[in-house]
Amino acid sequence: MTKVYNFSAGPAALPKKVLEKAQNQLLNYKQSGMSVMEMSHRSAIFEEILEHAKAQVKELMNIPDTHSILFLQGGASMQFHMLALNYAQGKDVAYVDTGNWSQKAMDEASRYGTVHCIASSKDKNYSYIPEFSTDNLEKYAYLHLTTNNTLEGTAFTTLPKVNIPLILDASSNILSYDIDVSQTALIYAGAQKNIGAAGVTMVIIRNDFISDVKDLPPMLSYETMIKNNSLYNTPPTYGIYIAGLVFDWLQELGGVDAMIKLNTIKSNKLYDFIDHSDFYSCPVHGSDRSLTNIPFKSPNETLDAKFVKEATDKGLLNLKGHRLIGGMRASLYNAFPLEGVEALIDFMIQFEGENQ
Ligand SMILES: *Cc1c(COP(=O)(O)O)cnc(C)c1O
Repeated sequence: MTKVYNFSAGPAALPKKVLEKAQNQLLNYKQSGMSVMEMSHRSAIFEEILEHAKAQVKELMNIPDTHSILFLQGGASMQFHMLALNYAQGKDVAYVDTGNWSQKAMDEASRYGTVHCIASSKDKNYSYIPEFSTDNLEKYAYLHLTTNNTLEGTAFTTLPKVNIPLILDASSNILSYDIDVSQTALIYAGAQKNIGAAGVTMVIIRNDFISDVKDLPPMLSYETMIKNNSLYNTPPTYGIYIAGLVFDWLQELGGVDAMIKLNTIKSNKLYDFIDHSDFYSCPVHGSDRSLTNIPFKSPNETLDAKFVKEATDKGLLNLKGHRLIGGMRASLYNAFPLEGVEALIDFMIQFEGENQ
């Protein structure tokens, strides 16, 4: 098999070391004679896996004791809904619209509450992060932001200080972005981008951020999930185990700060190359650029399609941009290696030479 680099936006590349460890432990986890997949979620051995994953991410993200760490199902898309069900019913809620995922989050919230879009970058195809005032937010039950816009390739560089609950969809840059968790009420992230395997959604929630809605379905109640330590029903056990292995790997590499440094090197290399090219272009400029998702285009759509096809033949996989955005997109999450960026740039130079 030739070497491939997987630029997928999600499910995305996992660290090879993590996959090897999982392979090693697949049939017989720590002399238990069983695979993690076969273990009771109420057994002591699984409890250890769950608590280990929580302890590791708590340290990586500096999560204070005021917050709980949950591993839920349903993806970030379920969080759009669960969040609104718990906290938006009959209320005014504030959203910043920075792209496709923010819009989906707003759509779900509008089922239950009155959504106020306090800022949007829709006017320029979501190619920047809009500014907004943090004054007079008291009338809203919460403020929701998408920290990294996976399709559009923008990201917040800093988070606002607000005196209402701050909610973050950090699906595509959790663990590669510096978040002061103590300033947030709830953070959610699907695992398949920067945490592990699809099927787990990590939620970090302030313990006193309690819904006032009576009789919520237990599976959609944060309070129930906190009280039961994510074990109200069978959690995604194998996915939690894989997340724990990814957290171990991150710890070994130096944690989130080390990842930010590495991701900055990776993405700067690609952005610099694009910025010095007359052939390729990136719709996002300046400090709003994402470290993890980099959209770019060639001079026309025919060449974009040719680019994707020829890149695929060379083992540079999943570079096709999202169907709503077009062009190409390189997703450079934590597990994506620097050599993959170098291989992409080499190919871009060659392709440009052949298609001038
Ligand atoms: C991928 C993504 C989602 C959707 O995640 P699912 O797990 O597929 O529901 C939501 N928000 C952001 C920012 C994403 O990148």
